[in-house]
Amino acid sequence: MTHILHRSANAKMPVAVGGKGIELFDQTGKAYIDASGGAAVSCLGHGHPDVIAALHRQIDKLAYAHTGFFTTEVAEQLADRLVETAPEGIDHVYLVSGGSEAIEAALKMARQYFVEKGEPQRRHIIARRQSYHGNTLGALATGGNEWRRAQFRPLLIETHHIDPCYAYRWQKAGESDAEYAARAAQQLEDKILELGPDTVIAFVAETVVGATSGAVPPVADYFKRIRAICDRYGVLLILDEVMCGMGRTGTLHACEQDDIAPDLMAIAKGLGGGYQPVGATLLSGKIFEAFSKGSGFFQHGHTYMGHPMAAAAGLAVQDVLRRDHLLDNVVAMGGHLQRRLEERFANHHHVGDIRGRGLFRGMELVSEVDSKKPFAPELKINAAVKREAMARGLMVYPMGGTIDGVNGDHVLIAPPFIVNREQIDTIVERLGDAVDAAVASVK
Ligand code: PMP
Repeated sequence: MTHILHRSANAKMPVAVGGKGIELFDQTGKAYIDASGGAAVSCLGHGHPDVIAALHRQIDKLAYAHTGFFTTEVAEQLADRLVETAPEGIDHVYLVSGGSEAIEAALKMARQYFVEKGEPQRRHIIARRQSYHGNTLGALATGGNEWRRAQFRPLLIETHHIDPCYAYRWQKAGESDAEYAARAAQQLEDKILELGPDTVIAFVAETVVGATSGAVPPVADYFKRIRAICDRYGVLLILDEVMCGMGRTGTLHACEQDDIAPDLMAIAKGLGGGYQPVGATLLSGKIFEAFSKGSGFFQHGHTYMGHPMAAAAGLAVQDVLRRDHLLDNVVAMGGHLQRRLEERFANHHHVGDIRGRGLFRGMELVSEVDSKKPFAPELKINAAVKREAMARGLMVYPMGGTIDGVNGDHVLIAPPFIVNREQIDTIVERLGDAVDAAVASVK
């Protein structure tokens, strides 16, 4: 009997006992290709010798020093690196232990920024429907995924949601990308005007949407329009790149491809590649200045923030990424993955859309391709895909459909950045078999 409350209270989990490269091994010796990097975490795969060596060196030196008393060399080095490679305007870093903490810190920084500036009436957060920003209460309130929010609603701060930029579901027939980008972004301006421009703190969005919709990139110009609207009303733009950031889409930050820079950005997952729990909130100069010239401190903090082991993992992962030119591989293998998925699922009766950027790809599963009708949620097609994939030694990240009654189930494919062509071919082959078996099992 397990004494862990697992994600599924009654589920029997295989026991992971080891990992090497793109594979994980369970207690029976069975190997699984980690084609989702867990949840888009393991960007260097498992057992990377350079990261392990860096962690050994750090723990031999210093495991922990409370940030209320000390800074550490390794945390400073990681912050330097993150600023050096950050989008324009970002000049400070707040180191935390994961994605939800990074979002919570961003929300509170945004609010305190306006308090420091003498605009305490700003209180509204706007985000998007069908979004996920973490499971702590502030992050959960920000996310627009009704299924996750429903039972906790009485505990959630008030937030406001507009539609996502999700071409497969929301772009109208005959509407150009430019027209759709304008229409989707206009919802933000309308919402700001409805709430009162001087009452809005920030707009929060994932640059490329991961867990709730399956690697949905924005259409061209959407974020340029969003940036312009935020600037027009002095509203801060918070990008959530917890899942899509740190190289996953082929550029270090996904927003580089949209040619914009945020005021605040949350990163995690690929930052430490799973070798340690680590995340960060990146903040622009104007926000740092408001704190430094104002009260002098950001009123927040966690016991494990800036943890030396977490920083060592982050720094080592970023070193390997740069030294081995892995972003080039993300672009090349991402293109190969997209092509192979398109070949395998061409004319498939239940794959409605294949999309994404870099090694961040999603497939939307539907009961009918022509009408885009989702599978009934009670069929749990996503769980069937996961089960069939695991049986075939493949980890992908399927999620439930009809969130807010709109989208279908989807499968997220996010292999480590070290993946090669042959491995991608095997991933697509196993995934094809798993999807076919899953559909057969629910029919
Ligand atoms: N934001 C996004 C976009 C995420 O995908 C996640 C995790 N799936 C989070 C925030 C929360 O991160 P964590 O689970 O590390 O708290």
